[in-house]
Amino acid sequence: MYIFKEREAIIQYLKPLSQDQSIGFVPTMGALHQGHATLINASLKDNDITICSVFVNPTQFNNVSDFKKYPQVLTDDILLLENLATDILFAPNAHEMYPNGQDNMRHYELGDLEFILEGEFRPGHFQGVSYIVDEFIQILKPTNIYMGEKDYQQIAVIKKVLELTRSNTKLVPCPTKRAESGLAMSSRNMRLSDQGTRKAAALQQALQHIKSGQKTKTFAQLLEEANIILLSNDFELEHIILCNADNLEILEDFDSNVPMRLVAAAYMEGVRLIDNIGV
Ligand code: AMP
Repeated sequence: MYIFKEREAIIQYLKPLSQDQSIGFVPTMGALHQGHATLINASLKDNDITICSVFVNPTQFNNVSDFKKYPQVLTDDILLLENLATDILFAPNAHEMYPNGQDNMRHYELGDLEFILEGEFRPGHFQGVSYIVDEFIQILKPTNIYMGEKDYQQIAVIKKVLELTRSNTKLVPCPTKRAESGLAMSSRNMRLSDQGTRKAAALQQALQHIKSGQKTKTFAQLLEEANIILLSNDFELEHIILCNADNLEILEDFDSNVPMRLVAAAYMEGVRLIDNIGV
């Protein structure tokens, strides 16, 4: 596997190759796990060259301590990527990705998408995500970009960015990889104790509880029951929201005429975990 840390070096390396070879790109913040591996395997299958980036993007954190505590284990990441036979790792530093400084970021007209659901609880988050993914796309010019449904709204945001920038890159969404307990795999799970990891499966159980009751109860009733499941597992609920799976509009109650998605965020042992399921 080739490892690049400088944008100019990877641009020069890819220049002759990108004429006739397809490039698959998997952006990550590292601390790689089997969820990331799903995306990398999908890219390896579809493309001539697969590039994974590892970069903990400061501007998408709205909480400094969350940023500082984000796990960084590049040596382990390299091993996992080599085992998967990834072609290229791009692991730049902040200066490479923000040549004009972090205060001079391009702004993206994301509309409501920026402020609803996750956006309401994480101001600025989706501007940071949009900038960094767009910047990577400008450097790597990938044919396909692979993103996980675990970050459901992020997929909609990046689709919008590709549209705004008239990019030729195609976004390929990949399903959420879960542990046997149902817990969605996440780099943040590394910060949980063994007991916290066991209890964290309750987030998925709470969502499944809401989904399975939709024929007999209202969303509001099921939300209360879901909160009891979470509380009894020491979760602190931030939000569980029912929305239209296509345009992410918030729904007050179940509506069998539209595709629905449940999205959630809750704190376990001070760690913010997210999950979502189709309803
Ligand atoms: P992250 O490193 O957490 O920023 O994630 C990098 C990419 O991997 C994003 O597109 C995530 O949605 C995706 N991802 C993270 N966890 C999972 C998972 N459990 N299953 C599938 N994709 C995932």
